[in-house]
Amino acid sequence: MARAFAEAAAAGARGEVPVGAVVVAADGAVLGAAGNRVEELCDPTAHAELLAIRAACAARAAPRLPDCDLYVTLEPCALCAAAISFARLRRLFFGAYDPKGGAVDHGPRLFTQPTCHHAPEVVGGIEERRAGALLRGFFAARRGPDAEARRVPGTRSTPGLG
Ligand SMILES: [Zn+2]
Repeated sequence: MARAFAEAAAAGARGEVPVGAVVVAADGAVLGAAGNRVEELCDPTAHAELLAIRAACAARAAPRLPDCDLYVTLEPCALCAAAISFARLRRLFFGAYDPKGGAVDHGPRLFTQPTCHHAPEVVGGIEERRAGALLRGFFAARRGPDAEARRVPGTRSTPGLG
């Protein structure tokens, strides 16, 4: 989860919504780690989870990761929840709940749908306060009067993370 927070902070520093994700194999090896790159890549699907899953699948040369876990700082959206299901990921650990955009415990609750053929074990709310603060700080800075000059809280000091 520390690595996911580091990726989220790095994404925020790039001007992306600060969300980070990491795919970890059963032996603890990090197969993929990413932050959002929607703006940079001009790609509305370049969410942290998708990028981390793609990197892990490429590293494995496999389209599914049944022995792997995903750590992400925010409750996944419908797009990413579907990708998690398609990748057959074993477990999902996420930070902040997302009542507006989340699709795991909110909205479509994708993993509970009869059309969902694989549901991971889910643990939500990990370091929820920290994960939520990172996002709130980012959006507050964007809305603020000196939005361009202000740093996103959480991006200044991340020693020891990752
Ligand atoms: Zn997503």
